[in-house]
Amino acid sequence: MERTVDIALVPAEAHDPVLVRAAAAEAAGIPLDQVQQARVLKRSIDSRSKQPLFRLRVAVDTEAHPEAPASPPTLPDVHRADPVIIVGCGPAGLFAALRCMEHGLRPVVLERGKNVRDRRRDLAAINRLHTVDPDSNYCFGEGGAGTYSDGKLYTRSHKRGDVGAVLRTLVDFGASPDILVDAHPHIGTNKLPGIITAMREAVIASGGEVHFNQRVTDLLLDNRRIHGVVTNDGTEHRARAVVLATGHSARDIFRLLVTRGVRVERKDFALGVRVEHPQAVIDAAQYHCSVRDPYLPPASYSLVQQVEGTGVYSFCMCPGGIIAPCATAPDEVVTNGWSPSKRNNPYANSGIVVAFGPELVKQHPSGADPDDPLWGMDYQRAVEHQAWQAGGRTQQAPAQRLEDLVRGKSSTDLPPCSYPPGIVPVPMHEVLPPEIATRLRAGFKAFGQKMRGYLTNEAVVVAVESRTSSPVRIPRDPTTLEHVEVAGLYPCGEGGGHAGGIVSAAMDGQRVADAVAMNYKVVPA
Ligand SMILES: Cc1cc2nc3c(=O)[nH]c(=O)nc-3n(C[C@H](O)[C@H](O)[C@H](O)COP(=O)(O)OP(=O)(O)OC[C@H]3O[C@@H](n4cnc5c(N)ncnc54)[C@H](O)[C@@H]3O)c2cc1C
Repeated sequence: MERTVDIALVPAEAHDPVLVRAAAAEAAGIPLDQVQQARVLKRSIDSRSKQPLFRLRVAVDTEAHPEAPASPPTLPDVHRADPVIIVGCGPAGLFAALRCMEHGLRPVVLERGKNVRDRRRDLAAINRLHTVDPDSNYCFGEGGAGTYSDGKLYTRSHKRGDVGAVLRTLVDFGASPDILVDAHPHIGTNKLPGIITAMREAVIASGGEVHFNQRVTDLLLDNRRIHGVVTNDGTEHRARAVVLATGHSARDIFRLLVTRGVRVERKDFALGVRVEHPQAVIDAAQYHCSVRDPYLPPASYSLVQQVEGTGVYSFCMCPGGIIAPCATAPDEVVTNGWSPSKRNNPYANSGIVVAFGPELVKQHPSGADPDDPLWGMDYQRAVEHQAWQAGGRTQQAPAQRLEDLVRGKSSTDLPPCSYPPGIVPVPMHEVLPPEIATRLRAGFKAFGQKMRGYLTNEAVVVAVESRTSSPVRIPRDPTTLEHVEVAGLYPCGEGGGHAGGIVSAAMDGQRVADAVAMNYKVVPA
């Protein structure tokens, strides 16, 4: 007999399997000595009242059902199968590759960056030497932008695919099974590289191909059909389908599409700053305490405020994290955030961004026309370049104390900050366009009223957070998922505006691979 029950326990009890079992048995009305198994199916934290609680959904069973340990799935041998070119080895490209193999197709993954191990050296060079390799950085390289991230795995795109299947695949390749039950699962920068390596090894072992240092520089186009791509060393790779999963930072790809007459469209996006508080400030506000209970994880937050008809909101919040330098070119400064699996750094950082499009902007910094499909991309680039100049033409980032920003005061000094290349005091209105700066100021002021202690000069605002989503859409047919004008070309993942975040990009990779397989069956070679 199995019964599913919901229980609420204080943090220390929720971490003790014996107490969880006893509480679940009591809630299920089953004598404890008859319970053979108590499996936690869902776990979330409820911190609305003074005493935070863990809410658990538990399946209580009078019979034992031993579970098989997770292991990488057995993929079909595709050594001799039809090739599918996949450009980009981020979550969209990797999950597309795995799904292609399930369909009996041979993925040929072309990635401009390096494998996860070699990529680490280039990240250290950004952090310490301020040197940005345009092919290997926090956005480019094996695993894509998500490799050195917080690895947050929640998404609002439940209708676009099977979130559970993506999470189970990650567990099969080495992620903790906790991600299957936590309401807000995350993996952490220290664990992600191993999981991605295991995926790549499984792809190659069964006949798929993964090539690093292969930047796609041209498309083999003929009569509105794609036949393959050309990479930086002049190699031609040919296949009937090309999956374009190059992410939102591949500006050369967006420009190449425009140059080759492949339709792309301007897309609204969001831009702003990253704010960093001492983690203890956020814990105190969220858990109503002076010192966090050791059984509670570092607290997170999610804030939103309408300002003059525009959303100002928190984005990609990283408890116990580090602000990461995410530029993809040497003359720009871009921030994002990452955390280790334990989230045990003393800082809490989050993007705070303003949603916008041409209607909000009086003057484009580089004079682009709102009808230009690359309007948003050029805007991003201009603001990132301005941040680089204001920071001293290195990877140091311009920064201001939070209360100073809200009061319109310059900061004469700055608090400690996790951003490895360092920060320099610069008023945000000297870095950001006025439309963004004034809305951020009003947004922060409102956040200070919503969360106790949030508006403090212990917090520092670091510019700029600009790569929140793609500023360009690559349009595709809603049924075949091919580009609306180019047969065989499949825009995929975040770059084309079809996903946002690790899980939704992975699900889009799976969907696109299903569409490619369908097309290969419908259109025989
Ligand atoms: C520091 C950081 C932290 C983040 N934290 C989170 C988080 O916690 N949770 C979350 O959901 N999301 C997070 N994100 C966002 C997430 O990483 C992206 O949404 C996701 O990776 C998008 O997947 P994708 O496969 O579409 O594109 P990407 O991951 O961007 O992958 C694109 C790949 O294409 C390659 N490429 C580009 N151009 C070419 C070319 N010309 N030829 C060959 N290859 C090319 C790139 O090198 C890259 O590897 C974070 C991002 C960053 C930078």
